[in-house]
Amino acid sequence: MRYLFDSHCHLDDSAFDADRDAVIAELADKMAGILWCGTDLASSAMALSHAKKHGFIRCACGFYPHQTDGLSGHETELEAMLNNKECRAVGEIGLDYHYEGISPEAQKRALALQLEMAKKHDLPVILHERDALCDMLDILKAHKVQNGVIHCFSGSKETAKQYLDMGLHISFTGLLTFKSARLAPEAAAYVPKDRIMIETDSPYMTPVPFRGERNTPARVALVAARLGEIWNMDAEEAAYITYQNAIRFFKLENEV
Ligand SMILES: [Zn+2]
Repeated sequence: MRYLFDSHCHLDDSAFDADRDAVIAELADKMAGILWCGTDLASSAMALSHAKKHGFIRCACGFYPHQTDGLSGHETELEAMLNNKECRAVGEIGLDYHYEGISPEAQKRALALQLEMAKKHDLPVILHERDALCDMLDILKAHKVQNGVIHCFSGSKETAKQYLDMGLHISFTGLLTFKSARLAPEAAAYVPKDRIMIETDSPYMTPVPFRGERNTPARVALVAARLGEIWNMDAEEAAYITYQNAIRFFKLENEV
């Protein structure tokens, strides 16, 4: 497929320590582009350095909900990263109340701060939400966020509607291929075709039939194929539609 764009992956993950450069070299032939998402200062720096070396890689810099204790004292370093042209979003940021760790109050403070940084730098945000829907909706409304994507969406079409009404995009992972996923395919059918992106969340969320293996950005082709099934079109066409959306969303015209 010529027009494959993975809108969310984590190639800094230790799952790629042994062969990161080989994986990237292979992707250069297979993919139109990938968006490498940082989760803390070090991973954001790594994503940025690879984006500077490879034209098909662009990055997002930010602090993931459970990494937000690292943000305090490093705000200027994060802002300096956002000034690079290869950085096309603030992410991965959000709220995750599923695991104990960083308090909801601390997560909300860090999210609010990063939402304002994104506005200041005129960048979209890549949002993670788990078990925190009400607080997420509240904070996005309070900060009038319109330019963003809800990544790895697994919710209902009613929830998707609430995000869509704010102007946000919705992104789907290999979760769409899981037999257990009931709500996500319904939501994918509901989201307007010009507001949808696809991603791998590599090395996580490996699609069927490769469950249990490490995920890589090239497997976004399987997400495209599943979306094509839902949309009643071939995989290639679904890939092209989501590619175009990613290009527009990350402002990559004439770049990838
Ligand atoms: Zn992620």
